[in-house]
Amino acid sequence: MDFELTEELKMLREMTYKFAVAECAPVSKECDEHEKYTPEIRKKAAENGLVGAWVPEAYGGAGAGFLGNAIITEELSRVDMGIGLNIGAATFGCEAIFQYGTEEQKQKYIPPVCRGELVSAGAFTEANAGTDVAGYKTRAVKDGSDYIVNGNKMFITNGTVCDFMVTQCITNPEEKKHNSFSLIIIPADAKGVTRNKIHGKMGIRASDTAEIAFEDVRVPQSNLVGKEGRGFYQLMHFFDVTRILVSAQGLGLGVACLETSVKYCKERTAFGAPLGSYQLTQKKLTEMAIMIEALRGLVYKSAWLVDQGKPDFTLAAMAKFYSGQTAVFCANNAVELHGGYGYIDEYSVQKWYRDAKILELYEGTKEAEILTIGRALMAK
Ligand SMILES: Cc1cc2nc3c(=O)[nH]c(=O)nc-3n(C[C@H](O)[C@H](O)[C@H](O)COP(=O)(O)OP(=O)(O)OC[C@H]3O[C@@H](n4cnc5c(N)ncnc54)[C@H](O)[C@@H]3O)c2cc1C
Repeated sequence: MDFELTEELKMLREMTYKFAVAECAPVSKECDEHEKYTPEIRKKAAENGLVGAWVPEAYGGAGAGFLGNAIITEELSRVDMGIGLNIGAATFGCEAIFQYGTEEQKQKYIPPVCRGELVSAGAFTEANAGTDVAGYKTRAVKDGSDYIVNGNKMFITNGTVCDFMVTQCITNPEEKKHNSFSLIIIPADAKGVTRNKIHGKMGIRASDTAEIAFEDVRVPQSNLVGKEGRGFYQLMHFFDVTRILVSAQGLGLGVACLETSVKYCKERTAFGAPLGSYQLTQKKLTEMAIMIEALRGLVYKSAWLVDQGKPDFTLAAMAKFYSGQTAVFCANNAVELHGGYGYIDEYSVQKWYRDAKILELYEGTKEAEILTIGRALMAK
């Protein structure tokens, strides 16, 4: 067992953090205030190999694996989780194309996303079904060599900025619920697609989130990803890897909260001594540090297992669950340690407090992760 990162991964970490400080930090506040998506930063990140770094070089990626990608996500989120998501989730949906798509689909969609020319989205959640993944109603009906898609999708990351969406649709309604779904690539500019940006998010406001409607959208049947009727199972495997990247977001945010709080507790004095000299303060910092280290173990191990060809969905669910817990805990402590200043937008901790909560909601709520882990325990 070797816990040491390779020299390449250490360099990747350093390079990513420098990139985030130089590119993301200066516009972080403005993007948060004005809900601004960051296409230029995404393109620059692509030039530096940071978009789709998990993608093998043969498909245009940096070939850094999921561990490399988790480290990139961590370092970007250490500076700005929303802008980091614009970089990290530019490939969201491509994981399914990579896992299940044809060679032609892989060549057509994945390299341009890694180059920063296209943006992908994964369109699964609907207005009336999120956690209930088998409850989606969007329907794709065969017509000649096409599918005609009708339905809606809700809360779709990159919704108004993407070029295509990997979309979960019912194609086989006559089959049992779990065998009725298929993943289909829908071009964002296809006739009948309407996309509306959702405004007013609590956090990650630099990220684009949208509601999408499909009205008689015609796409060729060659846009089917994987096997017809296998969409539900494919989506579950898709989440096994994407959840790890979301977990890495919480890791980066937690680190930012701890670093900033330690610095503040050294500088700020109360009752004639630095805040950090008081044991109650140290307890808060200590608990943050312990959770961050435990989370790092879960994130890196689950990413490493994917790179070894042995993905562990239970471990990925644990990482995702613990990421939300850690990020929310660390952000809360960071605000408290900053006292009244923590509540004012001059300090980043109030933003991190708002950003952190999404980690307990998207890519499976914390309750959904508990269900996944619980089922695995009971199946033993
Ligand atoms: C900013 C943002 C970005 C997002 N990006 C995407 C994206 O790119 N693509 C995409 O497809 N979706 C995306 N989502 C959607 C997100 O994944 C869902 O919101 C999430 O899965 C929860 O679904 P829901 O909102 O329908 O809540 P519901 O499923 O209605 O759940 C409501 C509450 O009930 C709980 N609950 C539900 N079922 C159970 C149960 N059996 N037992 C116990 N508790 C239960 C949930 O845990 C939750 O607390 C995004 C959401 C947000 C806010």
